[in-house]
Amino acid sequence: MEHADLSHIDNWIFDLDNTLYSGDVNFFAQIDKKMTAFMSQYLSLPPSEARVIQKEYLVEYGTTLSGLMAVHNMDPSEYLHFVHDIDLGILIPDPRLHTALSSLTGRKFIFTNGSRQHAKNVGEHLGIYGLFDGVFAIEDIDYIPKPKKSAYVQFINAFNVDPMSAIMVEDSVRNLEAPKAMGMSTLLITSQKDWSHEPEASRPHDGINVPDHVDMHTHDLPSWLLALE
Ligand SMILES: [Mg+2]
Repeated sequence: MEHADLSHIDNWIFDLDNTLYSGDVNFFAQIDKKMTAFMSQYLSLPPSEARVIQKEYLVEYGTTLSGLMAVHNMDPSEYLHFVHDIDLGILIPDPRLHTALSSLTGRKFIFTNGSRQHAKNVGEHLGIYGLFDGVFAIEDIDYIPKPKKSAYVQFINAFNVDPMSAIMVEDSVRNLEAPKAMGMSTLLITSQKDWSHEPEASRPHDGINVPDHVDMHTHDLPSWLLALE
């Protein structure tokens, strides 16, 4: 298990979906399907056509929601409520993650392109929500998501984080580009599930041939954290 020297890190910034739980679990697919259903209704298109636009927006705007807001001037609240109304039951809380997060020194944050309510629902379900010093969600970044640099700038300003003392933990390779350029360390959470149905730009990475802006990568976040000195 690879660990760079992380003794200078006192701000741990975690993405939520497919990061604080494994992307190998078929959980995010529920949200994905609800996005398609919402768009099919909203744009009056068959699901197959709505899905193409959904993924185009994801690639172009960072999230499907941002595309809907930019192109259709959509109000985000109904969408966020609809797509995050999902069954949490298939996510099995991992007590090792709680232990690992509890023993980290420094501040811990959740930074998600999902909604505040989604972060709370999932974080509480996993039994880790109370361990974080702050949560930053799509509402906090004016719905302009990662990987846009403005999102990270708003984050570090809101919590007074020095990027040189921070590590960004993410399953999305492109969401680590701006943090690395700003001086953060980067940890990629990989997935061994088949994600070929997702656009290459935004799918979780399999850990083979990771790009240079990824400092470290692991398939198992709890084990990786527990192996820290
Ligand atoms: Mg994610």
